[in-house]
Amino acid sequence: MSTNPGTVETHQNYIAGKWQAASDGSLDEHHDPARLSEVTGRYPRSTNEDVRAAVDAAEAAYPAWRDLTAHARGEYLKRALALMSERTERIARVITIENGKTLAESRGEIVSAIKEMEYQIHQGLRALGEIAPSALPGVLAYQYRRPLGVCAVISPWNFPFNVPGRKCTPALIAGNTVVLKPASLTPNVGLEFTRLFADAGLPPGVLNCITGSGSGAGESLLKDPRIQAISFTGSTSVGIHINQLAAGRLVRTQLELGGKNPMVVLEDADLDEAAGACATAAFACAGQWCTSTSRVIVAKKIAGEFVEAVLARARTLKLGSGLDPATTLGPVCGAQQMKNILGFIEEGRREGAKLLTGGRRAAGEGLDDGCFIEPTVFGEVNPGMTIAQEEIFGPVLSVFTADGFDEAVTIANGVRFGLASSIYTKDLERAMRFVEKTEAGLTHVNMVSAYKEPQLSFGGIKESGSGIPEGGRTGIEFFTEHKVAYLKYRS
Ligand code: NAD
Repeated sequence: MSTNPGTVETHQNYIAGKWQAASDGSLDEHHDPARLSEVTGRYPRSTNEDVRAAVDAAEAAYPAWRDLTAHARGEYLKRALALMSERTERIARVITIENGKTLAESRGEIVSAIKEMEYQIHQGLRALGEIAPSALPGVLAYQYRRPLGVCAVISPWNFPFNVPGRKCTPALIAGNTVVLKPASLTPNVGLEFTRLFADAGLPPGVLNCITGSGSGAGESLLKDPRIQAISFTGSTSVGIHINQLAAGRLVRTQLELGGKNPMVVLEDADLDEAAGACATAAFACAGQWCTSTSRVIVAKKIAGEFVEAVLARARTLKLGSGLDPATTLGPVCGAQQMKNILGFIEEGRREGAKLLTGGRRAAGEGLDDGCFIEPTVFGEVNPGMTIAQEEIFGPVLSVFTADGFDEAVTIANGVRFGLASSIYTKDLERAMRFVEKTEAGLTHVNMVSAYKEPQLSFGGIKESGSGIPEGGRTGIEFFTEHKVAYLKYRS
């Protein structure tokens, strides 16, 4: 982050404990999504040579890091965590400048990262094995988990701080070394994340961070034969491609992918609460949570009243730069993202959905130069439409109506994704049936769809995820392999 307003800082990769430029000196510019004409920083466009150097460093650092006790590794990570708390304001600003989300949303992301990291560090200090009673006398039979080696972490721009934390912490506490490639739209957040560990005195090479494009530096990293595990969060199409790459070498992957998350609102729901949760889950972070509600399926009887309540909330949102404390809806993350979202809105119109509010790039004072999209709600959406099936990843909500519970569940499940789902009802039996029948890795009853706690796993099913999920007890499981031993100590 530039400390002098008006100057554009040139940033460096972090490899083998040193901050360094790309080997050929090439750079990419980052533009503020709230003011596209403003360049916020320049970042190395890492070359194959840089990627190789980062993996070399991680490989060299691995044996000594692995051989430390988990407690010793935990001390380094706790120091990074303490710095994270101290630097919350600085990091929040970096997130907002790169991603566009409001400062309050950025702070929330850091708080969530701190909780998840704390949990994973403590999880790493627990005994990770078990002793089984052997069938033979004098035999100790046991199993435990051990680290894998060099792991690749590829993170997205929508939670550019939290996702690296959720992935790197279990990897590191378990004894692996890591090369992190942050999304090209949020390189500085990745570097700020890495800086915490550098400043905490982490031994050189244990965590390395290289910036650059996904198809360039990202793919080159994944193709390095020394990579033992790939933890990726991003779009389904890239996730499938990565899975295919990894399958050729039997490299394990953890893929957290796109979503098309439904919220069902039954006629007995508390309408005010449901409408509030729907508007929050549809428009917070400009609809760019992976768990954002993009489809709401409402019982016909209450649809009119419910939709009015959501529209009323959408109309109160104040668009603007995330740095302005009055803003409640920031820009979407960059010009390409804005173009994609406007394309989906156009497609929705063309296919005959009824635009109830929004639908345009927002204009006006402080908005014209940014990637602002009006909060948009479509009614009369049918399940076959493009906007009903594809992840839009913007402030766009589609409303469906259903005759009853069964039809609502059929619509909810009628997509290829399965990340998050939610239901609003006071009927416990129907709530439980929804939990059982809905095809999603994460389901909420009478709660906003993004709520999560660090002690439970986080991940999608169907085309929203593959492999052992992140977080909770599975966080470390992904980054470790099993070892079984039988030891005869008495003849
Ligand atoms: P993306 O797939 O475009 O990129 C994700 C990351 O992969 C970036 O770092 C990118 O540089 C890198 N990448 C792209 N192509 C690559 C390649 N060929 N090889 C290696 N790396 C490559 O996704 P995005 O636009 O950054 O993120 C938004 C997507 O992430 C949405 O679909 C969203 O739903 C999903 N997401 C999912 C979760 C979850 O937990 N399921 C969480 C956050 C975001």
